Amino acid sequence: SDYVPNEERYNQMHYRRSGQSGLKLPRISLGLWHNFGNTAVQDNARNLIRHAFDCGITHFDLANNYGPPPGSAEENFGKILKQDFRTLRDELVISTKAGYPMWTGPYGDGGSKKYLISSLDQSLQRMGLDYVDIFYHHRPDANTPLEETMAALDLIVRQGKALYVGLSNYPAELTKRASQILKSLGTPCIIHQPKYSMFERWVENGLLDVLSEEQIGGIAFSPLAGGLLTDRYLNGIPEDSRAAKDGRFLKPTDITDERLKMISELNHVAYLRGQKLSQMALQWVLRQPAITSVLIGASKTSQLDDAVAALHYVELSAKELSRIDEILAG
Ligand code: NDP
Repeated sequence: SDYVPNEERYNQMHYRRSGQSGLKLPRISLGLWHNFGNTAVQDNARNLIRHAFDCGITHFDLANNYGPPPGSAEENFGKILKQDFRTLRDELVISTKAGYPMWTGPYGDGGSKKYLISSLDQSLQRMGLDYVDIFYHHRPDANTPLEETMAALDLIVRQGKALYVGLSNYPAELTKRASQILKSLGTPCIIHQPKYSMFERWVENGLLDVLSEEQIGGIAFSPLAGGLLTDRYLNGIPEDSRAAKDGRFLKPTDITDERLKMISELNHVAYLRGQKLSQMALQWVLRQPAITSVLIGASKTSQLDDAVAALHYVELSAKELSRIDEILAG
């Protein structure tokens, strides 16, 4: 059926510039790491993208290796773009990355110019795009000079294959060095994608400061800790959940009694605020001035609605924040 986007889509979402760039990102972005590969139900994947866009979620995050199998999330996303978004490319911010193993041999992994250039060409082909809005180096590579990786990112922008570049999973000091190299080349790093949630707070030890100093926007991945920071696992492990279905990154054994106790205590704080835990978890990440957007995953459209609604609650108070810290301290 023909897709007619919701005319109200830009009224429900908030947008913020990524760092000091001119690029505005929605406060909620959608990642295609799970639920978009060849093992996913394709009608559901298509509905998720349409529904996200209807909510004002303009930013979709991919990587060369998303699937399974690797590459299939980009391919399937390309089909959805062709079916439903043919006339809407200029309303979308699409990102992809390279840095994890993608093909066999010495050139399908790491941070070399050889790998990054050819991987992005493959990604563009799979998605049927002329350019991506953001291209990331997915993780640091100690075996490639930082200057080479940054020069490859700069070249990609000059070739018009990406409009902006970003870094993911780079620690604070390396981010600073990389950002300074990119500035000197004339292609500033405008975005950094770290893991950040109530259960994963490493960015608070230096990275957020570097992002502010370097005027780089932060987009936090796995802000719901893969689904742990929601009501999903409060009463057991549902059959359709990530922990039950996938098992690669979130395993039933990750849901320990200790974790569950914390989750239900956090859930109670959210309850007192009149909201869902997932919503409080997103607001908690978005409270940081250096964080431009939270990058969620979703298996159902109702999860997108939950996330967007989170933007309309009152901010967390100092008292609520310290109660959360107390719970997280165990
Ligand atoms: P989240 O922490 O947001 O987890 C998403 C999962 O949580 C969903 O798939 C769903 O799981 C569950 N969920 C979401 N909303 C709700 C809700 N309202 N109620 C109950 N359960 C909910 O993020 P992800 O781990 O999926 O990562 C998000 C994105 O971040 C990725 O798609 C990718 O783009 C990026 N990423 C980047 C990495 C990097 O190295 N740069 C690494 C990892 C991710 P369920 O299936 O159980 O319904």
